[in-house]
Amino acid sequence: MAATDKIFQHGTLGLLVPGLFDGTITAGELLTHGDTGIGTLDGLNGEVIIINGHAYQAREDGQVREIAADETLPFASVHFEKPDISAPIEATNQADFETQVVRDYRLRNVFAAIRIDGTFKTIKTRVAPRQQPPYKTLVQATATQPEFSGEHVQGTIVGYYAPQLFQGATVGGFHLHFLSQDHQLGGHLLGFEIEQAELKIQHFADFQVHLPIDNEAYLQEEFDNETIDHAINKAER
Ligand SMILES: [Zn+2]
Repeated sequence: MAATDKIFQHGTLGLLVPGLFDGTITAGELLTHGDTGIGTLDGLNGEVIIINGHAYQAREDGQVREIAADETLPFASVHFEKPDISAPIEATNQADFETQVVRDYRLRNVFAAIRIDGTFKTIKTRVAPRQQPPYKTLVQATATQPEFSGEHVQGTIVGYYAPQLFQGATVGGFHLHFLSQDHQLGGHLLGFEIEQAELKIQHFADFQVHLPIDNEAYLQEEFDNETIDHAINKAER
C-alpha cells in the first residue's frame, strides 16, 4: 500500500545553496516514494515535474523530456496523491491565489501538496541552467536563467506549501512547478493567471527528510542558516 499520509523529500533546499548539485538519489528510487512532486536533476540541470508516476525534466533550452530511472537528483519532494480538497477555481492571479488558499484551507502551519489542472490565461516559468563542477553557489548559478511564458495554456501546476519554520529544509511557503499538457512549456513557476481550473490540496502531518549521508561533500559542508534563508528568497521565489 502506498503511503498517502506523508511527503518524502530527498535532500534539503539548503544543500543546493552552497552548490551541492550532485545527484544522490535515482529517479527510480524516488518514484517508489511518491507519484507526484518536484525537484531538480544532477548538476542543477533544469526543473523536475512529477505527475501520475512519471518524472519530466524542463530543460534550459525549453524542451521537456521524460527522465530515465537511472538519472539522479540532488533534491526532490514527492508524495502519493490522494487529495482531501477538490474545488473549482476561476480567474485569479498567483498572489491572490496564495493568500486565499492559505486562508481558506488553513495551510499556514501545515505541509500541503498543491495541484491545479486547467487552463491558464498566462503562465511564466524559469529553468535553472545546467552546471558543471566545480559548482558555483545557487545564487550564482541562477543569476541568469531562461524564462518561458505562454498564454491560454492547458496544463498542471504541482508543488508544495511548507510552514515558514521549515525554510532551509525546503522552501518555506509555496514552491510550485508547471508542465503544459502538450509538454511544450514547463519549469519553476514564476507567475500565473487562472482562466478555469480544478484545485486539489492534500494536507500532511508528516514530512520525511532523507539525507544523502554517503555524499562526501554533504558530510563536509558547514551550513549557515542566514545565508540559506537569503539564497532561497533570492533564487526560489
Ligand atoms: Zn523549483
